[in-house]
Amino acid sequence: MSGGAGFALKPLMWPYYPDLLDKPVPRYTSFPTAAEFAGDIGPADQMAALEQASGDVSLYIHIPFCESICWYCACNTGAANRRQRLASYLDALHREIRMVAARLPSDARVRRIAFGGGSPNAIAPVDFVRLFNELELRFRPVDPIISIELDPRTLIDEWGNVVRGIGATHASMGVQTFAPHLQEAIGRVQPRDMIERSVDILRGAGVTSLNFDLMYGLPGQGRDDLTDTLADTVALGADRIALFGYAHVPHLIARQRRIDASALPPKEERFVMAEMGYQQLVKAGYAAIGFDHFARPDDPLAKAAATGQLHRNFQGFTDDAAAVLIGLGASAISNFPDVLVQNEKNSGRYRMLLSQGVLPAGLGVRRSADDRMRGAIIEGLLCHGRAVVAPELARAVAQGLAPYLARGLCVFDREELVITDGGLPYARSIAAQFDPYRQDSPRRFSSAI
Ligand code: SF4
Repeated sequence: MSGGAGFALKPLMWPYYPDLLDKPVPRYTSFPTAAEFAGDIGPADQMAALEQASGDVSLYIHIPFCESICWYCACNTGAANRRQRLASYLDALHREIRMVAARLPSDARVRRIAFGGGSPNAIAPVDFVRLFNELELRFRPVDPIISIELDPRTLIDEWGNVVRGIGATHASMGVQTFAPHLQEAIGRVQPRDMIERSVDILRGAGVTSLNFDLMYGLPGQGRDDLTDTLADTVALGADRIALFGYAHVPHLIARQRRIDASALPPKEERFVMAEMGYQQLVKAGYAAIGFDHFARPDDPLAKAAATGQLHRNFQGFTDDAAAVLIGLGASAISNFPDVLVQNEKNSGRYRMLLSQGVLPAGLGVRRSADDRMRGAIIEGLLCHGRAVVAPELARAVAQGLAPYLARGLCVFDREELVITDGGLPYARSIAAQFDPYRQDSPRRFSSAI
């Protein structure tokens, strides 16, 4: 294995053991994962959890619309081309905001508001501002950190005014790749000057932490395509970069059938690309965060990682330490200390429940003490590369961990399990050894790298 022409790859730091990467594993944005959610959690559980919330609370608002749908996308989103459907969704969302805020105790303080989707800028700026005003009026946030996901293809100048007006300092753009032939291959065409213009708009609007989502493992992607995209991203000054491996699961996501599976890089090549990306970004001065994020050392995410304050939630790696995250909108997930609740995924049913004055909880899972203990270990391994494991649990997972320990991908330092430098690409697989639910349904998850 050698590097692409645009970037000299140092000798491999990561040993390649395909047998340890073969089994698909969750991304562990929660534990238990969404695969364990069931219908025995409903509106009464959601209401009880809301009424017990206290301290810092974060909000996530889901806008499940996009101007056009990218072929690779695994998000719960649809085309924003039917005005009536969009208007009635927003009506329901306003209603949910009012219902949830009315149940939140007065000592719960909203400190973060994140807008995601879909693409929040698929709705009209005026509708978005109304939504924000409703949130402010009902939740009375206290000096909140505001973040927003944006699609460069619909980022018109007016959105700069919106971003500045709501005081958003964090923004994330789906870029994926700068290579035109790859953009064609994944159904997301956005020329470089469009991205540059979007960066200018967001910086001009006061965004201080700007994330680019990028992907490796795309159909027809060569090593030079990846190194060029990373170089462009660095040149445009991204503060954070999420570098994901494209997960091709057309049996789960029908829109991915449009992607030419015969052009996908083989597994070993994906592994090389992941390492190339890691090396290139670290060399460019970024701190590696968890297993697939990078941040400039002065970005809050890098500071959180450096001080052991990094967390993992439904939005990925985060410096958000709030114990309560309330998801608003169809399919949004709320995270309470004892229970995870997902809103009704189908936007028609979501609207119907709210029109009947019912909270839209559709699925979820209660967290047992054992779940919380295992969840803390999984989060520790993924965020910090280490976690204390009680001796009886270490004995219980010994067989599963054995191949990783034997190959030096992790080591026990007394009671602490530590992932070694070479073990980083195996972090999710190592963490999965602590997940007792993961013995079946492997096809529901993506490959570990
Ligand atoms: S813009 Fe983002 S959310 Fe919308 S379809 Fe494309 S990848 Fe999915």
